[in-house]
Amino acid sequence: SIALHNVSKSFGAVDVIRDVSVDIDEGEFCVLIGPSGSGKSTLLRIIAGLEPLSHGTITFGGRDVTGLSAKQRDIAMVFQSYALYPQMTVRENMSFALRLAHRPKAEIIEKTDRVAQMLGLEALLERLPRELSGGQRQRVAMGRAIVRDPSAFLFDEPLSNLDAKLRVQVRGEIRDLHSRLGTTSVYVTHDQVEAMTMGQKIVVLRDGRVEQAGKPLELYDTPDSVFVAGFIGSPA
Ligand code: ATP
Ligand code: MG
Repeated sequence: SIALHNVSKSFGAVDVIRDVSVDIDEGEFCVLIGPSGSGKSTLLRIIAGLEPLSHGTITFGGRDVTGLSAKQRDIAMVFQSYALYPQMTVRENMSFALRLAHRPKAEIIEKTDRVAQMLGLEALLERLPRELSGGQRQRVAMGRAIVRDPSAFLFDEPLSNLDAKLRVQVRGEIRDLHSRLGTTSVYVTHDQVEAMTMGQKIVVLRDGRVEQAGKPLELYDTPDSVFVAGFIGSPA
């Protein structure tokens, strides 16, 4: 589980995250949605340990991790831009973290092969990122996160570089993956359809505050505000 308690973050005089408290259950798929500039990426980076807090605490499984670095937090991030190493093959990209951690060679091969199979990448392992389609690249980015066997996945608009058809397909793959692995996930999107179909919990952010949080149908049936109704898609 991931819990944020009264988390705030300022850049200089600008308050970007304001007194945010969120509870994400173990194994839950939580979607963060909100307009551009509402603080979604900043909140994700705070959870990842890439951004220090101005105020508040973060716990993972009840353990205070507020002071821990990104490395110590054992979570994996998947970005919109994939952030693959262009000069490394798919296999090298996927096994990078394991190689850095000096895992035994046999384990690296076994894990990379298993995850590649899970994602339908087994025939592409020796290719370079530039020889892949957008959807395949995003799958490699996910594979790279999965091989680390992290305690949580954080996704920052992972589908926004894909065309509409591929977006629906990869969205389904991420859902399948979540039901298979059961890893606690926080998923940032602009897209209400994505939020409604993927989220077990949805957190609506507005100007750095939580406007409302709950199950998709709760937000849909009983929005607290016109803002939430507008965002989630039911008439106010
Ligand atoms: P988008 O949907 O466009 O990706 P977002 O919800 O992810 O937006 P953030 O990137 O979290 O928004 O940014 C929230 C606010 O914080 C914005 O007003 C942004 O300009 C500001 N901000 C983000 N990073 C910094 C920084 N390093 N220094 C100063 N201001 C920042
Ligand atoms: Mg963002």
